[in-house]
Amino acid sequence: MPSVTEILIPLALDSAYSYAVPAGLTLAVGDVVQIPLGPRETVGVVWGVRESPAGSNLRAVTGRLDVPPLAGPLRELVDWLARYTLAPKGSALAMALRLPDEAAQGETVRIGVRASGKPPARPTTARTKVLAVAADGAMRGKSALAKEAGVSLSVVDGLIDDGALEATALAPEPVALPPDPDHARVPLSEAQAQAVRDLIAMMNPAPADAPTDAIGDPLPEGTAPVATAAPPGHGEKAPTILLEGVTGSGKTEVYFEAVADCVRRGRQALILMPEIALTAQFLDRFAERFGVRPATWHSGIGAKRRERIRAGVAAGEIAVVVGARSALFLPFAKLGIIVVDEEHEAAYKQEDGVHYHARDMAVVRGRIENCPVVLASATPSIETRVNATRGRYRHVGLPERFGGRRLPDIAAIDMRSDKPERGSFIAPALIAAVRETVAAGDQALLFLNRRGYAPLTLCRACGHRYQCRNCSTWLVEHRFRKALVCHQCGHAERRPESCSECGTFDNLTPCGPGVERIAEEVAALFPDKRVIVLSSDFPGGAERLRAELQTVAEGGCDIVIGTQLVAKGHNFPHLTLVGVLDADIGLTSGDPRAAERTFQLLQQVTGRAGRGEKPGRALVQTFQPEHPVIAALLSGDAARFYEEEIAAREAAGLPPFGRLAALIVSANDRAVAEAHGQALARASEPPDGVMVLGPAEAPLALVRGRYRFRLLVKTERSVDLQSYLRDWIARGPKVRGNVKVAIDVDPQSFL
Ligand code: ADP
Ligand code: ZN
Repeated sequence: MPSVTEILIPLALDSAYSYAVPAGLTLAVGDVVQIPLGPRETVGVVWGVRESPAGSNLRAVTGRLDVPPLAGPLRELVDWLARYTLAPKGSALAMALRLPDEAAQGETVRIGVRASGKPPARPTTARTKVLAVAADGAMRGKSALAKEAGVSLSVVDGLIDDGALEATALAPEPVALPPDPDHARVPLSEAQAQAVRDLIAMMNPAPADAPTDAIGDPLPEGTAPVATAAPPGHGEKAPTILLEGVTGSGKTEVYFEAVADCVRRGRQALILMPEIALTAQFLDRFAERFGVRPATWHSGIGAKRRERIRAGVAAGEIAVVVGARSALFLPFAKLGIIVVDEEHEAAYKQEDGVHYHARDMAVVRGRIENCPVVLASATPSIETRVNATRGRYRHVGLPERFGGRRLPDIAAIDMRSDKPERGSFIAPALIAAVRETVAAGDQALLFLNRRGYAPLTLCRACGHRYQCRNCSTWLVEHRFRKALVCHQCGHAERRPESCSECGTFDNLTPCGPGVERIAEEVAALFPDKRVIVLSSDFPGGAERLRAELQTVAEGGCDIVIGTQLVAKGHNFPHLTLVGVLDADIGLTSGDPRAAERTFQLLQQVTGRAGRGEKPGRALVQTFQPEHPVIAALLSGDAARFYEEEIAAREAAGLPPFGRLAALIVSANDRAVAEAHGQALARASEPPDGVMVLGPAEAPLALVRGRYRFRLLVKTERSVDLQSYLRDWIARGPKVRGNVKVAIDVDPQSFL
């Protein structure tokens, strides 16, 4: 009987397609093949092979490509990802598969040459020089040899043609040298040493006393209905461990020891970080500990380098990768640990294409590979915290800062009584504190989570407010760029000289502050101090931004003004004062995680202070010092905050006690989007334990010219959310015209 294969194509298609296997070709699951698709040829992966008489009626596979097959664990991850997120399986595959043609194309092969021992046909002076250098028989790069001999490259080429030099392709230089787990072991504090012992004991349980049930289902809360079984053939399940330590406690030092342990056992380590935290500072710190920098993986890595990292990882030659979330899809041959640093970061959630949460996917990959996963944070997500208290995850704690350093003292500035002067945004008490700090030669950080100059611009004469033409957002003035910019779609227009509505000249007024406006105020207050403004739209891109972060770390500036990106895991040893300009910003949003997010962010940013020799303090400008989030921050009582927040979530049936999914319907026409949303709602037929809310116009009702409506699905924990969604979508209205329905399981953003 002929063989038939199911081929999954890395396009937004939900299922694999059947193809016949031509005579003489044997295919195995995971093989990367070329296939005809419509009028063209494309690439796919063998997802299944069976014997079937239908084979004769099918189009045939063109051939197998000479690339490594997609390994079992990655295929399992793709299946899991698609099933969980409801993304088309082909889209999930696209994240794990590189297409051969975009790969190492044009990889410059380095040619090495050495003397063959044959004399040259025509010994010129130049040729003699080259052969004199090459006489030692060593292999050299072609141009290196020409340079050393002081001749042009053509002389070397001539000798190769002649046969006097023999040329071979050299292996490219390694993308990462092997890290030495014993290069420079840092003396640990007693608490750190204990944490390392605990961590390593949990990662490598002695078979006899290993708890088999205590850890339970290692999947993230909310994932239980799908794929809960342990992979066959494994005795103990590798644990997921929450490494919780206050800011400055040395979590990095501790998980480095776990990574070292893994490397010593000949296994590979993956350290995931929010992209922007992947700084030279971190890589240097790694190099101090392990002797070499690790391989890095993020959006700035070029195609050739990506290819080589992929190959090195697949061959098991690269021992440690530090990467952003997409590193989860690298073909590790023998993964021994995944560390997710700053696990609570919302940046781990991908918000377009396949809506996946890299932290949760790390736990899934860990389960598939049966390798331990370490989630590190000073302010764990509620989900992770609940998993840890309920015993699904293990817990290792570092309750104190390293070296006897204290956590910063945090005090509120009550903006109702201690107001800034008219037209300014920094209260007198904070100005005085900055003055003291910089006078002592220390650094101050002023934190405001708003990019640009002013979040809103209006005409003083007619009241016209400048709005994006593609989105329902106010345009943000960026004075440096002399533009009004939409932070949603990037649309930018010149800041007009006269009002576009009423024509009044020079009467536009900025409302509220962004970091650029704070910079202006600081420049006027401290004209002779060195100020750096840091936000994600930093001119010069991510590389410049990383360099600036380095400058701050080295003490090369007095006052830093920054958005949330300065809060994320950076270590600024000279920083002793943090001023939060508007602690209340995040509290009013309708997001169910508003309190958690605000608490985490403020705790992180105030935790930047006093990480060096000197103690730190933080001043927090707020209109509501009695708000539970602000009160918990001021009292330093994180435990209480978590308790109350967890109780509130439980009472409201919110994650992780219930499950959420969002359907975002969008279309070029508002009425069409709304009608489709309503038709979906009518088809929802929610069973017991399921609630469907909406459609409601999204808070961001218009984005990039598309009108948006949201439906929210809320279920009890025990409900199989994915099956429900699948059935609903299947019986729901057909998607027509330019209507799009995006499905977001476990939504993190509610905009
Ligand atoms: P966290 O990630 O918990 O905020 P880090 O790992 O960044 O903390 O450590 C905070 C600071 O303390 C860093 O500058 C780090 O180098 C230093 N540190 C932590 N542990 C040690 C140690 N055992 N020996 C020397 N320095 C340490
Ligand atoms: Zn816009």
